[in-house]
Amino acid sequence: MHRHLPDPASADHKTLRARVAELVKVFEKNKGPHRFQNRRDPMAGLVQTLLTHNTTDPNAFEAFDRMKERYPEWKDVHKAPVKELAETIRIAGLNNQKADRIQKLLGFVKQTYGDYTADVLDGMDFDTAMKTFGHLPGVKQKTLAVVLAFDLGVDVFPVDTHVHRLCRRLGFVPDSYDPVKTFKAMRDLVPKGKSYQFHMHLIWHGRKTCQARNPKCDSCFAREQCLYYQTLQDGTITGVKE
Ligand code: SF4
Repeated sequence: MHRHLPDPASADHKTLRARVAELVKVFEKNKGPHRFQNRRDPMAGLVQTLLTHNTTDPNAFEAFDRMKERYPEWKDVHKAPVKELAETIRIAGLNNQKADRIQKLLGFVKQTYGDYTADVLDGMDFDTAMKTFGHLPGVKQKTLAVVLAFDLGVDVFPVDTHVHRLCRRLGFVPDSYDPVKTFKAMRDLVPKGKSYQFHMHLIWHGRKTCQARNPKCDSCFAREQCLYYQTLQDGTITGVKE
């Protein structure tokens, strides 16, 4: 007889918070603690994250390296002919749009802070960061959450494809949610100080065990706390939530 896990569409906030906190502990017990270690330059983080949109990480990183090789200073990237910059980062795809976005971002920081720096983000909370940078093309909540969490160690929980899938399968948010709604919901559900660790644990789990197709539920240490697994046992599952 397994536990009856609540439906996230009707469960109250307190119940969902307790469920997430329980899973944070389950992952910590099985995978150990995972702490933020190295601060990285948020200016580079923003540009690199803009390059990752709609492409693979290796292509985005390659585009970033080619860009920095051709234009070693941010001012060179900013002042480069936009078509030439687009050509340089072609491997990242959507290169005309990305070149324009990168130059708009650099133009904004130069005009606002007098230099090509995004250090103002250091220690900034997510809402303030959104007010400060969110009006720039391409700099939306996922981009800012990624830079704050991974470059600066701010306690915010980014939601990418893997994390979105896991949050729905585990039963933290309804299956119908899109990544933006999941991000908003999870902001109130992840225990304070655990965002970075839990995000990394879910990414790892999504790659190794809870893949989009054919999740390995039988060998999953989180199955007793997983709504998807429960519905699988009940025979109520209607399809694999990818
Ligand atoms: S039990 Fe299955 S669906 Fe649930 S987290 Fe584990 S692998 Fe994913």
